[in-house]
Amino acid sequence: MSASPPLDAILSRIAAAAQAAGRSPSEVVLTAVSKQQPWEAVAPVVAAGQRVFGENRVQEALSRWEGRREGLELRLIGPLQTNKVRDAVALFDVIETLDRDRLAVALADAAGRAGSLPRLYVQVNTGEEPQKAGIGPLEADAFLKRVRGELGLQVEGLMCIPPADEPPGPHFALLAKIAARNGLEKLSMGMSGDFETAIAFGATSVRVGSALFGDRAPPAT
Ligand SMILES: *Cc1c(COP(=O)(O)O)cnc(C)c1O
Repeated sequence: MSASPPLDAILSRIAAAAQAAGRSPSEVVLTAVSKQQPWEAVAPVVAAGQRVFGENRVQEALSRWEGRREGLELRLIGPLQTNKVRDAVALFDVIETLDRDRLAVALADAAGRAGSLPRLYVQVNTGEEPQKAGIGPLEADAFLKRVRGELGLQVEGLMCIPPADEPPGPHFALLAKIAARNGLEKLSMGMSGDFETAIAFGATSVRVGSALFGDRAPPAT
């Protein structure tokens, strides 16, 4: 395995944050967010042994990872349209952005057809931002009950993206609280700017893009 100094640096920071919180570094998974990155930026990180990658668009993920996916875990961390469910179910190991009833119904339908589903996280819009995806924090309990009960979907955990202009800690705490009262142990929270805080609040996976790969190219239109 070749070395990747940026990957080593992020893994060291994750380990230090876990230890500072009295947790084991092995409890925190690094999701390397490869969206909008050229393959030359991603390849050294794969070569250095990183196995979990995050993408926010189905089509872009398909073109980046087709034929290179062997042995890796791919996580969808961006909004999923119902007309892309079939492709997403075929490509991803984890979908972190289950956020509405229509999508839950489409996933249940796909499960019936495909026989299995990616692992699922429910995205919670902890800041109740109108422009942001995610189920509202006040609706989360009922949504989880419907999805796990009536629709029979297995949910692994919760995911959130705190408002950019607020301290993230209270949002991470809220996500942890909703997870605890619903018997969920996995929390996908924390990005380049705040993953150490997220680990202090119990993150079990952190989604790190720019701190690992550098600035992203502008999104394809
Ligand atoms: C792009 C993205 C990230 C990574 O953001 P960075 O600040 O570059 O680490 C994490 N989570 C989600 C949902 C994203 O869309």
